[in-house]
Amino acid sequence: MPAEPDSTKARRMTEDSRHFVVVGAGQAGATLVAKLRAEGVAGRITLIGAEAVAPYQRPPLSKAYLTGDMPLERLMLRPERWYAEHDIDLRLGTGVATLDPAARVLTLTDGATVDYDRLALCTGSVPRRLPPAIGGDLDGVHVMRDLSDADALADALVPGRRVLIVGGGYIGLEAAAVAAKRGCDVVLVEAGQRVLGRVAAPQTADHFRDLHRAHGVDLREGTGLERLTGEGHVTGATLGDGTEIEIDVAIVGVGIAPDTALAEAAGLWIENGIATDMECRTSDPHIWAAGDCASCLFEGARIRLESVGNAIEMAEVAAINMAGGHAEYEPRPWFWSDQYDCKLQIAGLNTGHDAVHVRRAGEALSHWYYRDGRLIAVDAMNDPRAYMIGKRMIEARISPDPGAVVDPDANLKALLKA
Ligand code: FAD
Repeated sequence: MPAEPDSTKARRMTEDSRHFVVVGAGQAGATLVAKLRAEGVAGRITLIGAEAVAPYQRPPLSKAYLTGDMPLERLMLRPERWYAEHDIDLRLGTGVATLDPAARVLTLTDGATVDYDRLALCTGSVPRRLPPAIGGDLDGVHVMRDLSDADALADALVPGRRVLIVGGGYIGLEAAAVAAKRGCDVVLVEAGQRVLGRVAAPQTADHFRDLHRAHGVDLREGTGLERLTGEGHVTGATLGDGTEIEIDVAIVGVGIAPDTALAEAAGLWIENGIATDMECRTSDPHIWAAGDCASCLFEGARIRLESVGNAIEMAEVAAINMAGGHAEYEPRPWFWSDQYDCKLQIAGLNTGHDAVHVRRAGEALSHWYYRDGRLIAVDAMNDPRAYMIGKRMIEARISPDPGAVVDPDANLKALLKA
């Protein structure tokens, strides 16, 4: 969209005096302000972000950006000038310290105040850290959430360094893949019985365990971290089984928590994140929430999704409703992970599955999750076709016969008509 002339802008501003404010300039916040304008909102729009950089995509931070295969410019969701061109007041490097829903006013960390008519909270999530009592505050101990974390890690991952990864979820596994690719000696410990224990079936975990071991990662399951050791800088780790190892770098990937601090202090309803209704509205009628920080309803349960797809789709629904519409958010979960030369694509949510069926067609591999005979999720490894067709089936509530799914000669697309 080309920049509008000043006269048009002045007329527009007099026609809509409302002020739309979005807190959190990440994936959801950036999507939401763009959608507000696309919906024809003519009022003032302000996007406030604690980070000093314009909104960017996080997934490459543990993938192509960290390996050095993606430059900084390509991380950016939009060039910074786009916000001015669309008359969006982008305030970076400024956190929102307090929210007063009764007065409809925010106080920023620099002491300024901002009034709003309609507010969206897109504050994302915060990584869980190890407590200082077990060495979590030593130098050389990293988490992976934002650009500064990725830059610090990129400097630390030099060939020959001994790297300990704590946690075998997606962030830990992706970090292990990058560290191994960069020539580090990598040990990964997972306290649970297997990697991806919270998010994927044993079959998917088996695939990634084998992949990491084939790339030289010393992957240890059922082994927690007792403590990190060192004087100032981390130099060692004691594992749950008593083993002591020498390390130069530790990467902590033990999950995230929704960033609800602002909402909680303001008295909003918090339940597994900032609770929202079908229209992404919080317990306050003037405040919406979207992305990692927000929980929503899915098949009768209150869930929270930590994914780009959720941030985008939820933010778009929130924007439509803030603009005066009545859209409902129906999560259609999807996710991906890149490790070495394997692209994992996930459609649906596998919660409560009671059967997993394996389809192997040449190099392509996919795992199909069923609950009470209903297809609910698919993990596809280097198999974009299985992912796309599985996603369509899940969304259309088509549950093909598992016998046909596992048959490598079966035409998956034909099963869409099942
Ligand atoms: P964020 O993008 O985290 O943005 C929230 C922003 O709000 C932050 O910039 C924060 O500083 C700001 N903020 C918080 N509080 C305040 C405040 N009080 N005042 C002002 N600003 C505030 N998802 C996938 O689907 N696929 C992947 O492969 C994938 N890989 C990932 C890899 C990494 C390393 C990470 C960290 C995440 C990954 N994700 C992936 C998850 C995905 O990036 C997130 O789900 C998505 O970014 C959520 O968007 P969001 O806008 O809710 O939060």
